[in-house]
Amino acid sequence: MHSQSRKVVLVGTGMVGMSYAYALLNQSACDELLLIDIDAARAEGEAMDLSHGLAFSPGHMRIATGQYADCADADIVVLCAGVAQKPGEERPALLARNAEVFRSIVEPVVRSGFSGIFLVATNPVDVMTRLTQALSGFAPGRVVGTGTALDTARLRYLLGEYFCVDPRNVHAYVMGEHGESEFVPWSQAMLATKPVFTVCEESGGRFRAGDMEGLADRVRCAAQQIIAAKRATYYGIGMAMVRITRALLGDENSVLTVSTLLRGAHGVRGVFAGIPCVVGGAGVRETLTLPLLPEEEERFRRSCEVLDACWKELSF
Ligand code: NAD
Repeated sequence: MHSQSRKVVLVGTGMVGMSYAYALLNQSACDELLLIDIDAARAEGEAMDLSHGLAFSPGHMRIATGQYADCADADIVVLCAGVAQKPGEERPALLARNAEVFRSIVEPVVRSGFSGIFLVATNPVDVMTRLTQALSGFAPGRVVGTGTALDTARLRYLLGEYFCVDPRNVHAYVMGEHGESEFVPWSQAMLATKPVFTVCEESGGRFRAGDMEGLADRVRCAAQQIIAAKRATYYGIGMAMVRITRALLGDENSVLTVSTLLRGAHGVRGVFAGIPCVVGGAGVRETLTLPLLPEEEERFRRSCEVLDACWKELSF
């Protein structure tokens, strides 16, 4: 931490950014929150609106709009800015436009003298996190993407519902790309410390191992389903980002499935992807290499290949 005051600068005050800000306020997760958006009036309005909740919040927080120069003493700069896909626009064109958005943000943030942690949520998040690291030149551990943190939360929620247990007692991860090629290593999924497949075997037919892949499919389709119903997803990701923020600001060394640079885990190098990581004050301290089955390792590698191909489509 840079000072006694936990300072977060949020760039991109759209639905995701402001859901994050609202959750930060409700959890009193930082002391100072500055909002930046290319639409300055929007950022100003959001800062006003959010400040009016201070009278009811569990703690004090300074909330204001800011400039990139204000990032100098920030602990975390959070990136939720982005442009939406135009009708008929191909993925490389969208990626190129979002790369320009990130260039216009990351360069002035770095110029400010910022020496904290970047937290990236903009999609495709694994590629945008890799881009943030490339543009900033920061040590890879200090550039953290939300990765499969939200997907993992969705999985734990669905498993909790299926087995009728508190999702906080479900230990299971979604790994790889935050997107189509993500997967669940079921060999590592536990209720308390008992593998879910054993729970199914011993349940006398009440729970079925064959139902598990259906839950993974529901996780994979959740975003599309929500977007079809209400155009965007934001509360879940906002809460996931606050969870990561708390781990960073509190130097918690929590295990979270964030997007980080792989340096040989499961045979992958040079790609940013979602993997369980120990997250503390300095960002990602280390990745946890789980004892995956050979077919799970293969799925992880394939997902990372998809991400690498996406990165290569990006010219910046
Ligand atoms: P939004 O359109 O509501 O907000 C985007 C904001 O970025 C807008 O306020 C816009 O003015 C701002 N912006 C655009 N260009 C900018 C620039 N150059 N500088 C500063 N600000 C700029 O979008 P949203 O619904 O908040 O989604 C934001 C991003 O989060 C999207 O990329 C979305 O796909 C992603 N997302 C990620 C996850 C995840 O799990 N990582 C989940 C949901 C959404």
